[in-house]
Amino acid sequence: MSKLNPRQSEAVRYADGPLLVLAGAGSGKTSVITRKIAYLIEQLGIPGRHIAAVTFTNKAAREMKERVGRIVDRKLTRGLIVSTFHNLGLNMIREEYSHLGYHPGFSIFDAEDAKALLQDLMLNAGSAEAGDELNDVQMTISSWKNALRGPAEALSKAADEREQRIALIYKKYNEYLKAYNAVDFDDLILLPVQLFRTNPEVLAKWRRKIRYMLVDEYQDTNVCQYELVKLLVAERAAFTVVGDDDQSIYAWRGARPENLVQLNEDFPSLKIVKLEQNYRSTGRILRSANTVIANNPHVFEKALWSDHTIGEELRVIRCRNEDAETERVATEILDQKLKQGLEFRDFAVLYRGNHQARLLEMKLQAYQIPYRISGGQSFFSKNEIKDAMSYLRLLINPDDDAAFLRVVNVPRREIGPRTLEQLSHYARARNVSLFKSLGDMGAETHVAEKGLDRLRRFAHWVDSTCERLHSEDPIPVIKQLFTDIEYEEWLHQHSGTPKQAERRMENIWYLVESIQRMLDDGKGTADELGIEDAITKLILRDMMEQREEDDDSDKVQLLTLHASKGLEFPHVFIMGLEEEILPHRSSIEEGNIEEERRLMYVGITRARETLTLTYAATRKQYGEKIETIPSRFLDELPEEDLRWEGQGDLDVEANQKKGKATLSALLGDLGA
Ligand code: ATP
Ligand code: MG
Repeated sequence: MSKLNPRQSEAVRYADGPLLVLAGAGSGKTSVITRKIAYLIEQLGIPGRHIAAVTFTNKAAREMKERVGRIVDRKLTRGLIVSTFHNLGLNMIREEYSHLGYHPGFSIFDAEDAKALLQDLMLNAGSAEAGDELNDVQMTISSWKNALRGPAEALSKAADEREQRIALIYKKYNEYLKAYNAVDFDDLILLPVQLFRTNPEVLAKWRRKIRYMLVDEYQDTNVCQYELVKLLVAERAAFTVVGDDDQSIYAWRGARPENLVQLNEDFPSLKIVKLEQNYRSTGRILRSANTVIANNPHVFEKALWSDHTIGEELRVIRCRNEDAETERVATEILDQKLKQGLEFRDFAVLYRGNHQARLLEMKLQAYQIPYRISGGQSFFSKNEIKDAMSYLRLLINPDDDAAFLRVVNVPRREIGPRTLEQLSHYARARNVSLFKSLGDMGAETHVAEKGLDRLRRFAHWVDSTCERLHSEDPIPVIKQLFTDIEYEEWLHQHSGTPKQAERRMENIWYLVESIQRMLDDGKGTADELGIEDAITKLILRDMMEQREEDDDSDKVQLLTLHASKGLEFPHVFIMGLEEEILPHRSSIEEGNIEEERRLMYVGITRARETLTLTYAATRKQYGEKIETIPSRFLDELPEEDLRWEGQGDLDVEANQKKGKATLSALLGDLGA
């Protein structure tokens, strides 16, 4: 275990009042949080169950949990909360749903479900085409929720006709969520805040539970998250938050780096500790990061230094086009791995947008380089898992319309769209769920007898499966579900090859095993989960993992710059250093270069030993080849720390030849 420096140690030991640790990348902010949890438990004797630490991603939460597990006895960490903001909110709603007017087994609508509901509402309100407007409406409602603005306030404060229209949809949207016994992602934090504001008893209970609070990546909290923290810590103000205003990259999702300043005003006794030694990167990497970020205006001055060696120059590689660029990254990885005896997991490739990864993936596959990609391809985005999750959601909450609609015809039950349309008319007119309408619908409806019959048979089956799920051992019931619906046959009909169908069925069994594990894990302890809780947890994981995925095997990591926050890797590539990519075109148009620069700063500071920046001289856009302009951030880097390569001499074929030679050398090396 590394020795803390005096400042870090001061931050760990200070527990007399509110504390802000404000420091640049790689200075040990996250380390302070984990060590402080240990200190609070072991030295101050605060039971683990009275401490809560919050971070932004599941991956970060998992890592933090592991690190605490390594330094503190397991017995002492029982009940310790280390989670994301959303998970913490979910736990609160799970305990307090009755105060919020929800029933057990409420559903969480992910972005897709929410979008489907909004589209429905908009079409009903007379929008001809939802399309672009739909995204705008969804984003606006989300930003209102994150700013703690309810439908009534949104309407009264609407600045124009557009906002008025959206505010009306917002009102309906919330009503439907409630009718479906569902919450959306933003509600996970908003609802606890609303509850705490209106119910002092519940608030007092949670204040008794959480006696000390720690928050990582504080610069990315939004209004709603900050309010939650403030409500929980109250005047006692027993908390530590750590952050770096230069790494604030979620303004577009409502994050408010101003919260750092606000903290000082809200808590006059706030103590601020600054850390200035960077333990992560070589001298050149650190100097480059500092030089780039110096171009942004600063509220807080920070001077990061490192006593690591100066290290290698940053390489800037110009490639002829995007094909050559990805090819180069792939062959560089093979080359460096071979020459320096590295592992694939030592490398990370970062990029501005997910679409940049596609071409790279193909190259990596061609060279048989194992990789892991965050977001996009996660386990939960597989079709069969989405089906299975929808069945599970329906079992714990039959009123979950999004889940109902997804599976009502998977596998085919010959229930036509007209029948479903009539059903949803009926449901909407009465403000009840689709499932409930089925029970209520009498002969007076216009639904064709045959369709209604099939629907009722489906509903009856859902009902009886629900009942068995709660009265019997749940795992066999879930397994039986997939047999009942003949899901394997369905997969065979809908997969390219039998092998594919088998793999997809294995994914289903893997999901069932995960539920089993969740049930077994907490057995006999205070953390014991019921089947509903287990499924609710899975749903949340599903939503979070649409952005991230967990896997520890030896693979190159591909991630967006946003997803790389808080992580570190020995060797880092950043691709696409071109105007309109990094900085992104929309930010250029909006004049928001500072946030892009912070993103660049986050990217550079992920690297421990080497950093390679690449760009393509030409790139295809809408089928047309265009000349690119190298990113302005390249000009902002210190010239003496750079090594420029590939000024025009790099063509794909030459590079391919080199790549193949490296590949065969590598295979030879492995004795293959
Ligand atoms: P970021 O801003 O990127 O989130 P951070 O400030 O949270 O970075 P950490 O991830 O906590 O920084 O630490 C960066 C690296 O420095 C880690 O590998 C950590 O183990 C190491 N480190 C932190 N403190 C010390 C120390 N006192 N001695 C040696 N190594 C340290
Ligand atoms: Mg950190």
